[in-house]
Amino acid sequence: MSSPRKVIIIGSGPAGFTAAIYAARANLAPLLFEGLTRGGIPGGQLMITNDVENYPGFPQKIAGPELMKAVREQAERQGAELVTEDVNRVDLSRRPFRIGVGDDDVEHVAESLIVATGAQARWLGLESEHALKGRGVSACAVCDGAFFRGQDVVVVGGGDTAMEEAMYLSGICRSVSLVHRREAFRASKAMQARVLGNPKIRPVYNAVVEEILDVGKGEVTGVRVKDVVTGQPRLLEATGVFVAIGHTPNTDLVKGQLDLHDNGYIRTVPGTTRTSVEGVFAAGDVQDFTYRQAVTAAGTGCMAALEVERWLAAQQLH
Ligand code: NDP
Repeated sequence: MSSPRKVIIIGSGPAGFTAAIYAARANLAPLLFEGLTRGGIPGGQLMITNDVENYPGFPQKIAGPELMKAVREQAERQGAELVTEDVNRVDLSRRPFRIGVGDDDVEHVAESLIVATGAQARWLGLESEHALKGRGVSACAVCDGAFFRGQDVVVVGGGDTAMEEAMYLSGICRSVSLVHRREAFRASKAMQARVLGNPKIRPVYNAVVEEILDVGKGEVTGVRVKDVVTGQPRLLEATGVFVAIGHTPNTDLVKGQLDLHDNGYIRTVPGTTRTSVEGVFAAGDVQDFTYRQAVTAAGTGCMAALEVERWLAAQQLH
């Protein structure tokens, strides 16, 4: 067992790396685990984002993986120690916290912990969806909507996220078909009212997506849906498909140890990154189901590092 680190960061998206940059600059010698190869993607969701046009500082846009490479390098240059290993377990029942890492489950110990394990978009699970990801199939309208200006798109889902995606896209695209598998949306009444009052959005109820076309051409030309009541297939012409059937926060490590919201996201004290366990902070999409942007993730990563520093100082550990 190694001696306790002042702070360990789990997660390698914008939240984790930004926390590492700030913690390193505060002389906390952070150790960051950028694993998650079993459940998520090292580098986070930006690794599956082609072009990022809304991260400040990149007027010519930047590819998601390129942005993450730069942020990672920045964290390393500031002195963060980065280790590419999966974290298997955390024990938050006493301090210092214990963390088991890698195939040999090597134990690391930390006075404080920043959980920045992110979330994953849920996908329909179709082969055609997989084949056309980044080629017209997306899970983020704010990220990719601008590529479909003036075009016809499909949004899949019936929750608040799908409503938000449809509303956002209606401001850019010619038409939005909103495909939902039941005859009533799950979303809040207020969001539904906005969507149903929008002339550019056409709800397609009781419809499941069977295939996204056209894998052969390597681009999206339409969506084949099946009416679950009549069994009839139907083709919706579109150049973009936005899958908005929810996100799953990566909380397996902390389930049962940290308070979670009903929807599974880590609960933080409003306006802070403090969790229900003293000394444990959560940043980025694992605790954010409202904004879910790279820039907000980076922002909460910064907050977490500053809060760790203050908390350690208050404990006379720094
Ligand atoms: P939800 O779980 O609320 O909704 C997911 C939707 O996708 C449901 O309509 C569900 O259908 C549908 N769905 C799930 N799996 C499939 C599938 N395999 N095929 C087809 N459809 C599927 O997720 P959201 O991301 O919309 O919202 C998550 C949480 O975040 C919610 O609590 C929401 O209120 C909140 N949120 C709040 C916002 C805000 O307040 N501004 C904005 C966005 C989210 P079915 O209804 O049949 O189950």
